[in-house]
Amino acid sequence: MTSISQFIEDAKLAAGNYQRCDHESALCYAVERVVETAHGWKRLSKPELALFVDAVCDTEGIDSPEISHLRRTGSVIASADIEYHSIEFRGSTVNVGSVLHEIAHLTSGASGHGIVFRNEFVRLVRRHSSVEHAAFLHAVMQGVGLEVAPWQALS
Ligand SMILES: [Zn+2]
Repeated sequence: MTSISQFIEDAKLAAGNYQRCDHESALCYAVERVVETAHGWKRLSKPELALFVDAVCDTEGIDSPEISHLRRTGSVIASADIEYHSIEFRGSTVNVGSVLHEIAHLTSGASGHGIVFRNEFVRLVRRHSSVEHAAFLHAVMQGVGLEVAPWQALS
């Protein structure tokens, strides 16, 4: 079994692959990839995705965003637009982690990946994916030096 410190080192290294964004965003993306490697994220087909987004938004008390699907071109797999309350997904399948990442932009009102976004993302993962995913995400974020609220505060 790989220890958490190894995953933290992997995430720090992988952050170097995201050169076109700020360091905080690069670390955040790299941490999500490590969570995917360690725990997997459930993959959703288009119809499953629509149902999942509706269920999460209903629980969180926000309107469901306008969703569009585009062909996958570069490395971007999804993006949210806070002003238009919309999410664009790229490629034929999407995983739960990236859906919750985009919804966290909408519910936090943060377009970047600062602490407000990260706290919200961990909270949504804990509530709508699993405690295991959220705890691991939280630990690796802390491990790479991304500030995040105490675990107890994120439920
Ligand atoms: Zn984002």
